[in-house]
Amino acid sequence: MARNKFDVDETLETPFQAKHLKRTFDYIKRHGAKMLLALILSSLASVSSMYIPKVTQQVLDDVVPNKNLTLLWQLALLFIGIVIISIIFTVIRSRIMAHVSQEIIYDIRKDLFAHLQRLPFSYYDSRPAGKILVRVINYVNSVSDILSNGIINIILEIINLVFIVIFMYTTNARLATIVVAGLPFFLAFIIYIKPRQRKAWQAQSNKNSNYNAYLAESIDGVKVSQYFTRQEVNKSIMQRLATACRTVWMRAIRISNTVWLTSETITQIVFTMLYIAGVYWMTGGEMVSFGVILAMGQYVGRFWQPITNLANIYNNFVNNLAYLERIFETMDEPVTVDDAPDAATLPEIDGRVDFDNVTFAYEEGINILEKMNLHVKAGESIALVGPTGAGKSTIVNLLCRFYNINNGSICVYDNDGNSYDISKVTLHSLRTQMGIMLQESFIFSGTLLDNIRYGRLDASEEDVVKAAKVVRADAFIREMPDGYKTTVNERGNRLSQGQKQLVSFARTLLSDPRILILDEATSSIDTKTERLLQEGLNALLKGRTSFIIAHRLSTIKNCDRILYISNKGIAEMGSHDELMEKKGLYYEMYTAQAREQGLEV
Ligand code: ADP
Repeated sequence: MARNKFDVDETLETPFQAKHLKRTFDYIKRHGAKMLLALILSSLASVSSMYIPKVTQQVLDDVVPNKNLTLLWQLALLFIGIVIISIIFTVIRSRIMAHVSQEIIYDIRKDLFAHLQRLPFSYYDSRPAGKILVRVINYVNSVSDILSNGIINIILEIINLVFIVIFMYTTNARLATIVVAGLPFFLAFIIYIKPRQRKAWQAQSNKNSNYNAYLAESIDGVKVSQYFTRQEVNKSIMQRLATACRTVWMRAIRISNTVWLTSETITQIVFTMLYIAGVYWMTGGEMVSFGVILAMGQYVGRFWQPITNLANIYNNFVNNLAYLERIFETMDEPVTVDDAPDAATLPEIDGRVDFDNVTFAYEEGINILEKMNLHVKAGESIALVGPTGAGKSTIVNLLCRFYNINNGSICVYDNDGNSYDISKVTLHSLRTQMGIMLQESFIFSGTLLDNIRYGRLDASEEDVVKAAKVVRADAFIREMPDGYKTTVNERGNRLSQGQKQLVSFARTLLSDPRILILDEATSSIDTKTERLLQEGLNALLKGRTSFIIAHRLSTIKNCDRILYISNKGIAEMGSHDELMEKKGLYYEMYTAQAREQGLEV
């Protein structure tokens, strides 16, 4: 998957296919009964209103010449009745359809979100969050109307058309033919404009997506932007993206407006032709009454209105097709890291891990690890050190199977010594036995209690407090305004970096994993907190296999084994003392760091 940025238009990987229509229909048919009711009500309202021109005709041709007041009253009552029925039915229909449209939004969002939750890291690595958000929020909103009201309106307008044609032809066939004669011209125009319209709306969806991507990134990074006083630069990038949005939008609207303009022009021409022909035939002594000409004049509008509406719905559909394609594309995004069809549930593991000939690349052709071998005993503590970008985080990501390896195998063992290839067991059973503390301790919106309980929802409050005490998080939490019930917002803005890490330590401890992964986890804790934490960590590490990535080498001196990662694999391996004696890469790194900190080696 190619990487995408806010200033790169997305190319559509799966254009709209026939199967998408079926899928679209699946979302609609769940609401079939309600939609049918709405359709029936609308058709009744619409068909009854078709009598209005007939009323006009009767007034002119019967009431006026015969001075028939009784008929006038009857027609007036009929007229009021039609109007009231139309209003009531239209209101009920809007209510039903508002409901259906919200349900469709809900269904699509639910499916999209469920899929997004399953998509692997590689999906999120390759596109900006804003472009994902815009699909779930804006596109779904936008397509729901066309999928609910749009469908009903199409059917309704077709019913309208059929009835109007019948009414027109029963009123006067020759005049009716004049009204219908403009249709082929209009259809030819629609065929001509369609591909242009589609392209214009696709461009609009691309630019809109770019704009959203940059917006999301800017909100996420607003603090860094302000540190670096980047506001002006950012504003100009935003303006550029917004201008691009406006330009493509205007173009799309301009093209779409031609549809309405053309239909309006044809309507006017038809009107003129109708009156000329009607008056011509009437003065020629043919059987065309004044009432018939006026009624037909009203039908012209009623015939061309549904055609214009259909063209607009079609236009809207073309516009939304671009969104629908994006939505389905996301839903079809393969879950490349998933349970194999015959995946077994991993029993309780003992902590032993084997990497055998592991080769891995994020992007084809650029191997990060090559034929890496590592055999870790249960309960062993392993430190991963080495230059930035060497592949330390990658190794632990592979162990949790956030990415699939290209070659080789990674195995874990149960308490009876049976080995399990991690690609052949369920992700759930694997990951629940691993405790991971990432570089950035993510805090979710909610209380501190919820945050610590995140990975084990059934944990009691006592369990939470116990875990927090072990990792020395309890003291600071108790000092917060509402203790464990203190609400933090997304990203935990009211907590210091160190506090966030303590919370995430407690979260991990509570899930009681066999294998513990600490990725740079101690890097932003002050020395005093670190000392406290070290005690907690020692308790936490006891009896568990651990992989610790740390830049501060002083923190990993006591690990059982230290791996120096470099050059696509393990360059050096041994205890701190062994590696110091070897005077190789680790020794150099350690002495350089110790010198920097003014420590004795
Ligand atoms: P370390 O943890 O040792 O600093 P990483 O394991 O994070 O290094 O990264 C190893 C290499 O893989 C780096 O060159 C980095 O640029 C690359 N890399 C890391 N994550 C990704 C990713 N999601 N997509 C592509 N390349 C990546």
